[in-house]
Amino acid sequence: MTTWAHAWDQATGQDRARAAFAAAFGATPPSGVWSAPGRVNLIGEHTDYNGGLCLPVPLAHRTYAALRPRVDEVARMASSWDPTAVVSLELASVAPGTVDGWTAYVAGVAWSLRELGLDVPGFDVAIDSCVPVGAGLSSSAALECSVALALDAVHGLGQSREALTAACVRAENEIAGAPTGGMDQAAALRTIDGHALLLDCRDLSVRHVPFDPAAEGLALLVIDTRAEHALVDGQYAARRATCEEAAALLGVPTLRELTDAPGGAERALATLADGSPGADVRVRRVRHVLAEIERVKQFVALLDAGRLRDVGPLLDASHTSLRDDYEVSCRELDVAVEAARAAGALGARMTGGGFGGSAIALVEADAVDAVADAVDAAFRAQGLTPPAFVA
Ligand code: ADP
Ligand code: MG
Repeated sequence: MTTWAHAWDQATGQDRARAAFAAAFGATPPSGVWSAPGRVNLIGEHTDYNGGLCLPVPLAHRTYAALRPRVDEVARMASSWDPTAVVSLELASVAPGTVDGWTAYVAGVAWSLRELGLDVPGFDVAIDSCVPVGAGLSSSAALECSVALALDAVHGLGQSREALTAACVRAENEIAGAPTGGMDQAAALRTIDGHALLLDCRDLSVRHVPFDPAAEGLALLVIDTRAEHALVDGQYAARRATCEEAAALLGVPTLRELTDAPGGAERALATLADGSPGADVRVRRVRHVLAEIERVKQFVALLDAGRLRDVGPLLDASHTSLRDDYEVSCRELDVAVEAARAAGALGARMTGGGFGGSAIALVEADAVDAVADAVDAAFRAQGLTPPAFVA
């Protein structure tokens, strides 16, 4: 029996957030309910903090924030994810290193908007969500961005989606302490349905690229491996630090610059392979980033040409590179990808930061159940906790 994690429709999500608000704060209703989606990244992994390209699509799964402003400077926060308590804190006390746990993502957004000089007083907020948490589907950004939209609306802040994206990135980096690169918040605030978001992380420009697998008889299967994934640990930060070190050695602000001139990538890799301590690791990390940026370009060119059926080898190559050169895969992700391919997927890869989380597989629409069954069976055969399929 496979497990499916279905999205709520938006009316259900809003009703649930209102009910959570009433349970936490009593009968006076919230000013409204705002929401933001989780995402899967089609391709372009670990490129955002290198000024590169990525290509997320929004999930139907969203996080809902029911919010009401207060006249004082207190934030009271409740989430169905943590039903034990309402957490209350003074906004003036929020600073890097002062807030632990999930409320850092909420209070961090208020802090970040206040850092811009905006007038953001206290609030009561209740959260409900059908985005799987900690599954590499960006529940953290969906949470931040739903709160940012709510605060922007109730206080008439008039911030653009781009400005709110930047504020949420700051909240995650500085208050929640996760050094993520910005793709997730852009996906939560700047994607539109039926399109992938080609995000250029060098200048934060975007292009909406039509993405409609069903129109080509295909489906994107999202596999939450349920293997533990935590970005607030050392591995993600270590990858980021190695990239920054390599860029400094090569005298460029970000690795992206190396892709600007023809042959630039090859020259950079040759320069890095100087036999010095750590050179081998630097070469492999940089090789992944540069090749992955190129794969995003090729993927988008295929989408533009109406050739979604031909992207499979790019998905496969991305996974191999993340597994062998970037070393951010894990057994569960590899099992999911290999089982999906063996069951007929056109291509498959891990998605998100890695070390657990989710994988995606591009499959024939009429083969979704068969591929899901095969992946589920492979997990059971290997003694792994069965995955959940996100639809
Ligand atoms: P991902 O973003 O891939 O789901 P992260 O580790 O980046 O994983 O973020 C997960 C964290 O975000 C959770 O541990 C929790 O602190 C917070 N979070 C996400 N969704 C919710 C929610 N609905 N309620 C409370 N906290 C949440
Ligand atoms: Mg996250």
